[in-house]
Amino acid sequence: MTRSILVVDDELGICEFVQDVAQDMSFDVAITTSASEIVSVQFDALDAIVMDLSMPNMDGIELIRYLAENGCSAALILMSGLDSGVLATAERLARDRGLTVLGAITKPIDILTLEKLLELVPLIDRHQEVSNSGSMVDKSDFSVQELTQAVSQGQIKPWFQPRINLADMAFVGVEALARWQHPVKGMIPPDRFIPLAEESGLIDELTVSMVEQSLAEVARWQTENLTLDVSINYSALSLADLGLPDYLAGLVAARDLKADRVTVEVTESSVLTEIQNSLDVLTRLRMKGFQLSIDDFGTGFSSMQQLQNIPFTELKIDQSFVKRALSDKDAKAIVETTVDLGRRLVMSVIAEGVEDLETLELLKNYQCNQVQGYFIAKPMPGNQILEWATMWPSVASGYTG
Ligand code: C2E
Ligand code: CA
Ligand code: CA
Repeated sequence: MTRSILVVDDELGICEFVQDVAQDMSFDVAITTSASEIVSVQFDALDAIVMDLSMPNMDGIELIRYLAENGCSAALILMSGLDSGVLATAERLARDRGLTVLGAITKPIDILTLEKLLELVPLIDRHQEVSNSGSMVDKSDFSVQELTQAVSQGQIKPWFQPRINLADMAFVGVEALARWQHPVKGMIPPDRFIPLAEESGLIDELTVSMVEQSLAEVARWQTENLTLDVSINYSALSLADLGLPDYLAGLVAARDLKADRVTVEVTESSVLTEIQNSLDVLTRLRMKGFQLSIDDFGTGFSSMQQLQNIPFTELKIDQSFVKRALSDKDAKAIVETTVDLGRRLVMSVIAEGVEDLETLELLKNYQCNQVQGYFIAKPMPGNQILEWATMWPSVASGYTG
């Protein structure tokens, strides 16, 4: 099957260059030097759009907005002669608007980079939701009743992703991540039902179920001599509940677990929304001995102020920076600075989204405390954790030499 792409750049020379490369790779290629002409093109039939950012009339950012508003499902490859920061912002903007972005190229175009990105085009199934573009979520997939039932029937289960201590590569904890085991539709990732749970007021019930199941697993591992910390994701909405600290303390005590082994993760961007109650709740959680982690650190606003006001014990560097640390000097600087900031504030720093050994080594050099990511392990059901823990030390010894 032929894949079709459209190249949009006000410089005809660039259009033709990309066209040549893509045709050599057997793509069907159309070109245009004016983004505003795309209005008349049927982009529904396109598999990808390779587009410049700086263009007269309609620029790349406007084009992104137009494509998003018109439900474009073609994957985007962005190009720009501007610095990589502008490209990264445009990429994020496009993803936030629900578009699929394969990657970005800085001009002058490196032919190998272009070929690599074009190779990705056939791999995208445009009819499926792309996992990292949360806003593409089709909420109409499920009804509130269906989700209510799923929560009460225990169809939503925690899976666990290992966290590793970088200094000695020890397996020290897990993050609990919600999975909906739908009887008909199969496994549904959290990005597709957490927003609905938040909007419909089901989130507290869902979180309670996640916490209870997670603590039960932790207690079970403990009886098998595997002591692990556990991190639970809390929606900012749940932090408005003043009864949360006592409730959580009660659960932990009932399981004979220690509060300081339980981390409450809240996303940075969300903490401020319910500031009055959440400050109260977070402070009391801390007083009861729980750890507090600021998730997706670096993506929200007024981080510094929140760090001062709220007794967080951990910074979790957002995976968007970690994944780009080797290829993008700005992302690398943010990672290094965040680790340094955490150290100065006597907080533990964890990097998420570690996908290769090189990134792990970079973080180790920076003296980041912990890592989590596909390079170590993907999230897994609770009944696989004991086996993973047995296997891990021999794998880890391969990395420590
Ligand atoms: P998060 O808290 O930032 O969790 C990390 C996400 O990144 C997880 O996706 C995890 O599977 C994924 N991940 C971990 N390592 C890597 C890696 O190396 N590469 C890549 N590409 N991805 C990696 P997941 O499980 O789909 O969860 C998505 C988000 O849903 C979470 O982001 C969290 O915000 C939310 N979520 C999950 N479970 C719960 C929950 O029980 N309650 C609430 N309120 N939110 C939850
Ligand atoms: Ca998290
Ligand atoms: Ca995160």
